[in-house]
Amino acid sequence: MSITEDFLSSDDEQAIVNAIQTAENHTSGEIRVHIEEHSDLEVMDRAREVFTLLKMEQTNARNGVLFYIGVRDRQFAIFGDNGINNAVPDDFWECTKDVVISHFKEKKFKEGLIAGVLRAGEQLKNYFPTEKNDKDELSNEISRG
Ligand code: CA
Ligand code: CA
Repeated sequence: MSITEDFLSSDDEQAIVNAIQTAENHTSGEIRVHIEEHSDLEVMDRAREVFTLLKMEQTNARNGVLFYIGVRDRQFAIFGDNGINNAVPDDFWECTKDVVISHFKEKKFKEGLIAGVLRAGEQLKNYFPTEKNDKDELSNEISRG
């Protein structure tokens, strides 16, 4: 079993995908989760790079959000697109990050990601409520590097 599979079982993964779907029922924002073992880059630089690799800038309102986890590096970051950054205060993601990290410290990885994703959806809906005929612009599946 690889380290990233050990981090989340496939049942855990499905529960997180369900949380993404729930969150996206409340907002036109698009949330993705990427898990990998290691990167040499500084965590925000790597999150930005993964965001681009996953083509997450391809949303109509530029409101994609990436939750990045480097398992072996014990790194976590949230990277949001420009449409969000232009609309929200600078500390917008702090409380979501705190929720995730406090769970991670207790090794509750699934619970932390679910709580974080749902919190992100709650926050995003204030700025990006669901629109009529909302599309699932970015896959809800977890990406593994
Ligand atoms: Ca959507
Ligand atoms: Ca989606």
